[in-house]
Amino acid sequence: GAWIGIVGGGQLGRMSAVAAARLGYRVHILSNSEPSPAAETSARFTVGAYDDPVCLEQFARSCDVITFEFENISAEGLAHLARFCPVHPSGHILETSQDRITEKTTLESFGLPVAPWREIGSAEEFHALPSFGFPCILKTTRFGYDGKGQFRLENEAAFNSLAAEADTLPYPLVAERKIDFAREVSVMVVRNAAGTVRCFDVTENHHRQGILRVSITPAPIMPDLAEKAQTLAATLAEKLGLVGIMGVELFEDRDGRLLVNEIAPRPHNSGHWTMSACLVDQFEMHVRAVTGLPLPPARRHSDAYMHNLIGPDDMALLPEIVGEENASIHLYGKEEARPGRKMGHVNRIFPRGGLPGSMVLSRYQPQLED
Ligand code: ATP
Ligand code: MG
Ligand code: MG
Repeated sequence: GAWIGIVGGGQLGRMSAVAAARLGYRVHILSNSEPSPAAETSARFTVGAYDDPVCLEQFARSCDVITFEFENISAEGLAHLARFCPVHPSGHILETSQDRITEKTTLESFGLPVAPWREIGSAEEFHALPSFGFPCILKTTRFGYDGKGQFRLENEAAFNSLAAEADTLPYPLVAERKIDFAREVSVMVVRNAAGTVRCFDVTENHHRQGILRVSITPAPIMPDLAEKAQTLAATLAEKLGLVGIMGVELFEDRDGRLLVNEIAPRPHNSGHWTMSACLVDQFEMHVRAVTGLPLPPARRHSDAYMHNLIGPDDMALLPEIVGEENASIHLYGKEEARPGRKMGHVNRIFPRGGLPGSMVLSRYQPQLED
């Protein structure tokens, strides 16, 4: 079989590798850390730095196509890989999503709505924040995930207390209007080089302490809004020339409008429900897309309630969850359950139409709460 290279050894690489193996491919993982969830699911596993040209060249020469589960490889690293092997999705898409300012500028250039934002490049610009207004959220432009690198400024008082540290903040930052959203949703969209685009159903996401906690599919939204979200994601995939899968995170505001929060051109945590509720899940779709295989319709046969297992508290629930009759468990093989660490997830599956909002509320409300 052909070799698929995956940059990144986390759980997304682990699950992508399993999907690739099922399709008869061999997987070579490049990971920058030794104990890695993807080590045990790949045919070949190399530990190396993502910016080491020698390591990147050796890796790329061993592969027929390269993709990612880790997005933050440098532009030079990307260009180096592409010299020796086709890379999907292409470097310019990763570069777009790596930097929140490029990301927002690109989205706006496509006519897609984002929360009002402003670049904060220095302490001086920080001090001018009151003219932008509160509440707002400051985010580092790069390397943020699970809400890390964010400062929430609810009001001028919060701003004043952070102002003492203005000289030490990690500029550049981006200030975003805090959206009083009705709900958060996301769409997984996949496109292959032949131009076939597929969107999975819209899922509703709940976060706790900045970390995705629960995804409910189908999102309990009006069909026309769901269609709008999918059309938006498909447009984006086309405009970016995406080859592979991409998560599109959206806010539905109080007026029923959609705003794009961020995009992730790779398999995404909010798409894990597809592993149990779809015949072909996000990982298989991704592998199909990057290897040039046809993309079947992203059909959903069940409703799904995806619950992340985060840290020691959630891992303590496992003995109970294994006993549930409609729960499929995915563990990532991580040794230590540190607080805030994603250790695995559970997909609870219901017949289509069997997961009405009221049931979610009565049965699972405690798991949704902040
Ligand atoms: P990840 O990549 O893990 O999804 P991240 O660190 O890139 O997270 P964001 O997705 O930007 O961070 O933000 C994390 C969460 O914080 C969002 O899912 C949302 O719940 C909340 N949030 C972010 N930006 C805003 C905003 N402008 N208004 C309201 N809430 C926001
Ligand atoms: Mg992010
Ligand atoms: Mg996010």
